[in-house]
Amino acid sequence: MKRTALVSACLLGINCRYNGRNKRMKDLAGFLEEFLPVPVCPEQMGGLPTPRPPANFYGGDGRDVLCGRARIINEDGEDVTDRVLRGCRECLKLVELLGIEVAVLKDRSPACGVENIWIGEDCVKGSGVLKPMLQEKGVKILRGDDF
Ligand code: SF4
Repeated sequence: MKRTALVSACLLGINCRYNGRNKRMKDLAGFLEEFLPVPVCPEQMGGLPTPRPPANFYGGDGRDVLCGRARIINEDGEDVTDRVLRGCRECLKLVELLGIEVAVLKDRSPACGVENIWIGEDCVKGSGVLKPMLQEKGVKILRGDDF
């Protein structure tokens, strides 16, 4: 039986990005042949609409959000931290339910970021919210932008 892999839905061609578009990585399909992909968009799953104003971190990255030291604020000045957290928790439920051990995530997103994120106007090293939550469950994280 194929193993399941959690995948940022925008990498699979689903138009769930803030601008209503996707970031399909066509070479991801080959890697995923060995898996049953489970597409997720934590921002949508937390209740944010598509399209939506882009949002960035303030005060730190995803790990800091989980510690209450940072927030995620959108371009309109709205605090969307709680909705991103809610969506990430929904993803975690799927991980536990399906025994998922691998996740392929889209970098530079407040929810899905793997190695880089936006803090204010700057793209810097850091993690989105979902990555540390998944790592705590032993899930291996791959950067979808590398495919
Ligand atoms: S990066 Fe994550 S939160 Fe952003 S659109 Fe893709 S799946 Fe949704």
